[in-house]
Amino acid sequence: MGVFGVYGVKNASAIIYYGLHALQHRGQEGAGIVTFEGEQGYRHRALGLVNEVFNPAILASLKGDIGIGGVKYANKSKGGLDYVQPLYFHHNSGDFAVVNDGNLVNSKNISDYLERQGSIFQTRTDSELLAHLIKKDANEARIFNILDALNMMEGGFAFLILTKNRIYAARDKYGIKPLALGRLGDGYVVSSETCSFELIGATYLRDIEPGEVVTIDSHGIRSRKYSQYQRHKMCAMEYIYLARPDSDIDGCNVHAYRKESGRRLYRECPAEADIVIGVPDSSLSAAMGYAEESGIPYEMGLIKSKYVGRTFIQPSQEMRENGVKMKLSAVRSIVNGKRIVMVDDSIVRGTTSLKIVRLLRDAGATEVHVRIASPMMKHCCYYGVDTSTEEELLCSHRTLEEACAMIEADSLGYLSPESSIASTFGCSELCLACFTGHYPTSLYQGKIENEVE
Ligand code: SF4
Repeated sequence: MGVFGVYGVKNASAIIYYGLHALQHRGQEGAGIVTFEGEQGYRHRALGLVNEVFNPAILASLKGDIGIGGVKYANKSKGGLDYVQPLYFHHNSGDFAVVNDGNLVNSKNISDYLERQGSIFQTRTDSELLAHLIKKDANEARIFNILDALNMMEGGFAFLILTKNRIYAARDKYGIKPLALGRLGDGYVVSSETCSFELIGATYLRDIEPGEVVTIDSHGIRSRKYSQYQRHKMCAMEYIYLARPDSDIDGCNVHAYRKESGRRLYRECPAEADIVIGVPDSSLSAAMGYAEESGIPYEMGLIKSKYVGRTFIQPSQEMRENGVKMKLSAVRSIVNGKRIVMVDDSIVRGTTSLKIVRLLRDAGATEVHVRIASPMMKHCCYYGVDTSTEEELLCSHRTLEEACAMIEADSLGYLSPESSIASTFGCSELCLACFTGHYPTSLYQGKIENEVE
């Protein structure tokens, strides 16, 4: 998911629209916006890309200078319109809306607790759990209910809560999910990624801290900590694959991270070849780094059709395979007769890698050496990144040699966890749990089905 919020800017819906546009890479299944003008809330959400979901008439109907929005990515168990956020809630103390990027690991415990008290749910989203927890005790001031509710939540999350005159922006205490704050004119914006600030002309102020809730209203910005416990375990996959290269996360630019990981990848896993190519788009920076460090020329050996969704977030195997077929082509005149180093950001199931290796061989490549700018992915993610079940992962039960044979490469090499962390230039610690199995939180439900919001 990608989340975006605006406070104190005229025609907030138009700004949110552009903000979500810049976050489109974080989810293509659906999009939604909620705004407030006075007491009245307005919502529109639908399945589809941001520019399919909204048009000028719809945006004009979303009135007010305050609002939040989200883009959602396809997920097997939590798909469809019901799961497109923000969710909108009616309450006699005032309507409100919630959007979230992430996944709680103790959602079952919380929903059991709430259901024992009489709650019933329309969805299995963490946003709905948060809404119920916030309204559990109507006698308390809202902010204290929010602090209490967040304290009960374990996992990775970036919540935006919208009321008629206020936005609350909260980040998990482990620092797994990104959330940044910016200034736009006299108002404020909050976003999953800083790349959206550039597009709308906003100035980056700072990241929301792990365990922090920022309140944005007519008094400006106020910060509160809902937990004394604080870590900086940013999701490594944000740097490796998810985020846009022009975003900065925890002070480290994503393109710079990827390029450095490519340089380190060459030092750890050199290969003799004629050209280095990257798998578009998220691997191009790492391929540049690999080429720079090795002295092997960097070439554009693969071209991607721009208007097809990302491969590993398609919900079914069939769709994933078709996705690969439809969106990548090898450039025959470049790869024909060449020994190739193909740099990719990660291997999840191996479906994509196998297809690309075959594409390159069909186009005349004499050798294909696959180099991965992240460690071997062996475990699933419980924090909202749909990296698949452990059984489906190429490397969960295979050696390096077996994985290499599965994708039909001449050789295969991965970046070490140490170099993955070092590629941040010391800006940040990282969560590397899907590679190392060391999860920053308890898992509560143990090896639960991967639940993604
Ligand atoms: S387990 Fe992997 S995908 Fe999930 S938050 Fe950690 S690094 Fe990111």
